[in-house]
Amino acid sequence: MYEFSYQRPGSLAEAIAAIKSADDGQVLAGGQTLLPTLKQRLAMPSDLIDLAGIGELKGVSVDGGNVVIGAMTRHADVAGSAEIRAKIPALAALADDIGDRQVRNRGTLGGSIANNDPAADYPAACLALGATITTSERKLAAEDFFTGLFETALGDGEIITSVSFPVPDKAAYMKFKNPASRYAIVGVFVVKTGSDVKVAVTGAGSGGVFRVPDMESALAANFSAGTLKDIEVSADGLNSDIHAAADYRAHLIGVMARRAVEACG
Ligand SMILES: Cc1cc2nc3c(=O)[nH]c(=O)nc-3n(C[C@H](O)[C@H](O)[C@H](O)COP(=O)(O)OP(=O)(O)OC[C@H]3O[C@@H](n4cnc5c(N)ncnc54)[C@H](O)[C@@H]3O)c2cc1C
Repeated sequence: MYEFSYQRPGSLAEAIAAIKSADDGQVLAGGQTLLPTLKQRLAMPSDLIDLAGIGELKGVSVDGGNVVIGAMTRHADVAGSAEIRAKIPALAALADDIGDRQVRNRGTLGGSIANNDPAADYPAACLALGATITTSERKLAAEDFFTGLFETALGDGEIITSVSFPVPDKAAYMKFKNPASRYAIVGVFVVKTGSDVKVAVTGAGSGGVFRVPDMESALAANFSAGTLKDIEVSADGLNSDIHAAADYRAHLIGVMARRAVEACG
């Protein structure tokens, strides 16, 4: 690890001031990605601003038709939240299937989406549910937030404060997971709200999470798993790695999408 100055602000205002005054500051959430990165000397922030002591960034609330989750809310708390289980059970189930118990007890919603790992689960939920990401500076639609592999629209020193998820009529997430890490080899999140259907895929795209318009229009006309039977997903632009080839991932997208529609009931 390179040397850095550690700061633990007690409020969001203090965290913003700390990051703005640092030469090259970086915020720390649960450290599940950032600490290994620092240990391998792949990052060299001048200041590490730990968000763990900021109560206003944690917790779950229901605001009209939205579930609002603080950026520092850990995966285990999303999985166990009575409000989320009642309003968007698919989101609680997604959180409950992230990594292992230790990862779920340290990893956070904000850290996951800021990192935008191409195999992470939350980006699919954000895109399919049409989430709004609130930062220290603005509000961003999920469509505009995830911009590429490990890339987001966040600017320097911009801190995610919460994510607001509209409550859908029906939603389900199905993941074909890596048995060791539980990251998605392919994960598909399907949401139906009125006549609108969204299908978001994680784990497969070389540019990160993406939607499947052909599936969405077919399901909007007829919301049944059988509707997807004849929709071929192209392997072009999908990842090939030691876990799965691009054409296998393309096949899995169809399988996971059909299972998700069936799970929507
Ligand atoms: C063994 C293992 C298995 C895993 N399995 C899965 C899995 O199955 N599915 C899955 O989706 N994920 C998985 N993860 C990822 C994990 O769930 C974490 O969400 C992810 O590692 C980010 O960790 P963190 O929240 O602790 O953030 P950190 O590591 O602290 O930070 C990650 C990045 O986000 C930035 N950041 C953090 N919070 C904010 C904020 N509020 N605003 C702006 N930037 C911020 C940091 O500066 C850093 O760049 C796994 C991780 C491990 C180690």
